[in-house]
Amino acid sequence: MAQRQIDILMYHSVSDRGGATAINAATFAMQMEILVASGVPVVTLDDLIEARTTAPRSVILTFDDGFQDFADIAWPVLERHRLPAMVYLPVDHVGRSENWRGIASPPRRLMDWATIRRLADAGCHFGSHTLSHPALPALAPADLERELTQSRRIIEDRLSRDIRHFAPPYGLADARVRAAIGRAGYATSVSTRLASATSDSDPMDLPRIEMFYFQHRARWSAHLAGRGQGYLSRRRLLRTVKSRLMVPWMGL
Ligand SMILES: [Zn+2]
Repeated sequence: MAQRQIDILMYHSVSDRGGATAINAATFAMQMEILVASGVPVVTLDDLIEARTTAPRSVILTFDDGFQDFADIAWPVLERHRLPAMVYLPVDHVGRSENWRGIASPPRRLMDWATIRRLADAGCHFGSHTLSHPALPALAPADLERELTQSRRIIEDRLSRDIRHFAPPYGLADARVRAAIGRAGYATSVSTRLASATSDSDPMDLPRIEMFYFQHRARWSAHLAGRGQGYLSRRRLLRTVKSRLMVPWMGL
């Protein structure tokens, strides 16, 4: 059977404030309209791991960091189109402002628990993005375990539902971290590696599509129509060169 392609889209902030981790409101609305018009089904990470998706292509929407602009700007668009989405929360920062490495200036607010609960009740999905938003490979084993297990337990307690999905801060997870993520009870973990996932991808290391690269209507339409792999390869190459040069990249 042919491999299925699953594009896991990666967003951070959706706002008009600019910066490498923000997509403006009009661009986000355009991206969602074109996605819906393309007919490519939008599914969830649970659909993926439970093999409920049989379409040759599908899309999953993910948002890191749980910024307030998700509730204000992104969610109304998603709700209008009835699109499911996953938001990864750095639990210690909920209801506060970002204060980790690579943040915007001035720092952006994160949603509070009341807002998160309201969205969860309305059908939005939530996952863990640790407690404190650290670079996980640098942590001692006990701290690593705490970041993974306590964040999961706190979100489960707050939302009264199972939390099964994880996103490591900065996309940083080596083999030791991925093993710990699995032991902590998560069914999936995503990375910031730029690629489409397939039905053969490791669920603990799922690549994602950085939507910063698809802010032009024609480019996004072409990608959804299956004509975007050349562009994706070129962006991936540039990204690899940048990370090898240690140029500060996005504050993911
Ligand atoms: Zn993050």
